[in-house]
Amino acid sequence: MDNPISDTCGWIALAGNYRSHPTFKGVETTDWAIIGGGFTGLAAARRIAKLDPNARIILIEGKRVGQGATGRNSGFVVANESPGHAALSSASGRADYAALNALDHAGVAAVKQLVQSHKIDCQWEDTGSIHAATSAKNFDKLRHHAQAFADLGINATLLDQAALQKRLGTDHYKLGVLSTGGALVQPAALAKGLADNLPAQVEIYENSPVLKLAEDGGAAVLTLKDGTVRANRVIVGVNAFMPRLGLQTDRVFPLALTASLTRPLSKPEEQAIGHAASWGVLSPQSLGATMRLTKDRRILIRNTAEYRPAGIDLARLVQSRDIHYQGLQKRFPWLARDAVEYTWSGNICVSANAKPVFGKLSDNIFAAGCYNASGVARGTIMGRLIIDLAMDAPSALLDTVNSLAKPGWIPPRPFFDIAARIRMGFERAKGKSER
Ligand SMILES: Cc1cc2nc3c(=O)[nH]c(=O)nc-3n(C[C@H](O)[C@H](O)[C@H](O)COP(=O)(O)OP(=O)(O)OC[C@H]3O[C@@H](n4cnc5c(N)ncnc54)[C@H](O)[C@@H]3O)c2cc1C
Repeated sequence: MDNPISDTCGWIALAGNYRSHPTFKGVETTDWAIIGGGFTGLAAARRIAKLDPNARIILIEGKRVGQGATGRNSGFVVANESPGHAALSSASGRADYAALNALDHAGVAAVKQLVQSHKIDCQWEDTGSIHAATSAKNFDKLRHHAQAFADLGINATLLDQAALQKRLGTDHYKLGVLSTGGALVQPAALAKGLADNLPAQVEIYENSPVLKLAEDGGAAVLTLKDGTVRANRVIVGVNAFMPRLGLQTDRVFPLALTASLTRPLSKPEEQAIGHAASWGVLSPQSLGATMRLTKDRRILIRNTAEYRPAGIDLARLVQSRDIHYQGLQKRFPWLARDAVEYTWSGNICVSANAKPVFGKLSDNIFAAGCYNASGVARGTIMGRLIIDLAMDAPSALLDTVNSLAKPGWIPPRPFFDIAARIRMGFERAKGKSER
């Protein structure tokens, strides 16, 4: 028997009550407006308050703060993203990978510092990262991961099937790489803690989607349903929704991911998993499964990604849950179907060459986003750095992010829709064994 399905994100449901904020009404003038209350927007707001304690800062969120992808992700605070083929096959690819890796490590440190200084109760665990595969065709990739990490001075250890079985409680994976630097977290609890601990100077509005963003006479103007904000500077932190605001339409696109979380394991299930300590496994194969055993003894799986700009409806979510359950069964055959308690969807932002958006878009408008599925750490550090760029506060890390290649061009819709569906089908077929 299945549990009823409702697109309720398990992390958000389990994180407890979120502080609520008013909707925006009226006409206001401000030094800064931030659009989007995810990791990027929250980090940007915090940074402005630090650098300019007298500035007026208005943060506007279309739905609820921290409840977009920020609260709905898999909770890997990624330090060592999979180096794709492009990242390893040329000198510029390797330099870009090294730059992103440096940013990600700085991002993990930034998130950890916030968790510690604000005592955010979010199940933070310094676990490092495991990339693992079951199919022999991915073993070379894993060895390349280990080499790429080692080249950057990161400790990386290959794990064989027996070592993985002992750690994870499943013999599904045949080869893995354990690398240092990453962490695991309950993402909604983290987001809630980050929002609740923003400086009082940040005025937050929720359920207030910005409908239009334009420039007018030296300021940016945000149009909302019930009002207008005129801002000296705007930070766009809406990630996958940039194209809906008319931004980066030929550079980025959304992918819808879905995930499932089980109820806590029962005593017999704990025995079956060998009382393993909590862990997270990433796939070296694009569209392979992301898996976790959480600190509160639940299993998470995310093994679906689709190009569906109109979003995921409940019928599609039911199909996703079936795919999640198949993935769970491959790894934990003893797990009953009704153990799946929550299934939900969320959007990531992707570019053709996996490069983020970062920079000044026009006189008064700056944007950071598009981190693929690595936005917990990257969003936090890039949200901070976009303010350093806007306020002309140089640093080595700002040079690093500025050194990155920009997102590649993508064709206009509907051509892009056709190409994206074909490509996703191809990637899904390629990644089937790792789902
Ligand atoms: C299922 C899933 C699993 C993932 N797993 C991981 C993981 O394990 N590790 C990891 O690092 N990353 C992961 N990611 C990616 C990560 O969640 C994102 O990269 C990250 O949340 C990006 O943060 P952000 O603040 O830039 O954008 P978002 O979190 O998307 O926040 C943008 C906010 O802007 C708001 N908004 C949009 N349009 C408007 C508008 N017009 N007006 C006002 N507000 C608007 C949205 O409501 C949203 O709250 C995952 C994502 C998903 C969906």
